[in-house]
Amino acid sequence: MTNQLLARLPASPVLDRATANAFVDEHIVPFAGAWDLAGAVPEGLLARIADAGLWAPFLAPELGGAGMDMVTLGEIHEEVGRGCSSVRSLLTVHTMLSWALSRFGSPDQVQQWGPALAAGQQLGAFCLSETGAGSDAAAITTTATPAGAGWVLNGVKKWITGGQLADLFLVFAQGPHSMVALLVPRSTPGVQVRPIEDMLGTRASMLAEIAFTDVELGRGALIGPSGFASGMVLAGVLDVGRYSVAAGSVGIIQACLDASASYSSHRVVGGSPLRDLALIQAKVSDMVTDVRAARMLCAEAGRLKDAGDPGTIMATWIAKYFASTAAARHATEAVQIHGANGCSPHYPVARYYRDAKVMEIIEGSNEIQRITIAGEAYREQAR
Ligand SMILES: Cc1cc2nc3c(=O)[nH]c(=O)nc-3n(C[C@H](O)[C@H](O)[C@H](O)COP(=O)(O)OP(=O)(O)OC[C@H]3O[C@@H](n4cnc5c(N)ncnc54)[C@H](O)[C@@H]3O)c2cc1C
Repeated sequence: MTNQLLARLPASPVLDRATANAFVDEHIVPFAGAWDLAGAVPEGLLARIADAGLWAPFLAPELGGAGMDMVTLGEIHEEVGRGCSSVRSLLTVHTMLSWALSRFGSPDQVQQWGPALAAGQQLGAFCLSETGAGSDAAAITTTATPAGAGWVLNGVKKWITGGQLADLFLVFAQGPHSMVALLVPRSTPGVQVRPIEDMLGTRASMLAEIAFTDVELGRGALIGPSGFASGMVLAGVLDVGRYSVAAGSVGIIQACLDASASYSSHRVVGGSPLRDLALIQAKVSDMVTDVRAARMLCAEAGRLKDAGDPGTIMATWIAKYFASTAAARHATEAVQIHGANGCSPHYPVARYYRDAKVMEIIEGSNEIQRITIAGEAYREQAR
C-alpha cells in the first residue's frame, strides 16, 4: 500500500496512553514544527482527531463518547502535549465546553450539542478573557441582557484559543444579577471572528478575538441557572481546563527530556559526547525527576476528579503550578543543551521553550496559582 493511500486511512480509536502515544508519534510529532511556523493546523488533522475519538472521549457513550475517566483523559492530553501544545490547547478548550455541557447542560442542550461535540463535527471554544480582564474574571464587561424570552449579548472576548475554528462558544458575561454562561453558535447574527496571529507560543492554536454585537439568543442558550453560573460553571470549567494544561505541561517536560537525551548522546564537544559531562547529566536528571513528579501530581488530581472528591480543585492547582513551572525551566535547559541549534527552527526545543512560557500564563497564571495555593496553607492552619 502506498504512503498516499495509508495517509487517507482513518486513525484507529485512541482510548488509552499507549494508543495516544502511537497516534501522536504518527500524526502529530512529524508535523508540529511546520504547523507552528504556519500558525495553523490543517483541516485533515481535525478530521484525524475526530476519527480517533479524541475530541471529547469523556462524554457518555449514548452521546458518542467513550465514557472515559479523567485519569485516562489526562494521560491522553499529556501525550498530545508531548507532540504539540497547540493541538493540546484545541483539545483543552473543546473539553472545557463539552464538560460544561455534560455537567450543567439541560437535557435539550445535551441532545442538541453532545453528539456533534463528541464526534468533532462541532468544535467548542471558551470565551472569558477580554482586553481589560484576564486574571480578574470579575472585571469582564461583556453583558447578557434579558430580552423577551432570551438574551442579548454585547462585548468583545480576546485571546480565544481555537476561535478561528470553533462552531460553538461558551461565553461568560455579566447578567442582571451575576455572571452568566451562554452557549453561542458562531453562525448567530452579530458574532464576528477576528484572527489573532503571531503569538509567542502555541502559535498554531488559531486564536481569535470574538465580537458579539446585539447577538440575540433564546432562553435555551443559558448553561446553569443565572446567579449560580459564576460560581459553579466557571470554577468547574477552569478546573477542567487547568487539568488539561497541567497534563500538557507534563508532555512538554517529556518532550524536552527526549530531545535532550538524544541530542546530548550525539553532539560531540571536546572529543566526547555532551552526555559524558556532569553538568549536562545534572540537567537531564532533573528533567527525569520532575517529569515523574509532575505526572504523579496530575494522576492524583485526575483520581480525585474520578472519585468526585472536591479536593481535586486544589490538587489540580498544585499539579498545574508544578508542571507548568517545571516545563518552562526544563525547556530553557533543553535549548541550552542544544546550543545554537536549539535557537533554530530545525530542532523542536525552541518551540517547547515558547509553548512552555504560555503554560505559565493560561488557566491561572503562576502568580495566581501561588496566591491560591498559599491560601490553602493558611486555611489548613486555621482549621
Ligand atoms: C496563548 C493564549 C491562549 C489563551 N486562550 C484563552 C482562551 O481560550 N479563552 C480565554 O478566555 N482566555 C484565553 N487566554 C487568556 C488568558 O486566560 C489570560 O492571559 C490569563 O488569564 C492572564 O490574564 P491577562 O493576560 O489579562 O494578565 P493580567 O491579569 O493582566 O496579569 C498580568 C500579570 O500580572 C499578574 N497578576 C495578576 N493579578 C495578580 C495578583 N493578584 N497578584 C500578583 N500578580 C498578579 C499575572 O500573573 C500576570 O503575570 C489565552 C492567553 C494566551 C496567551
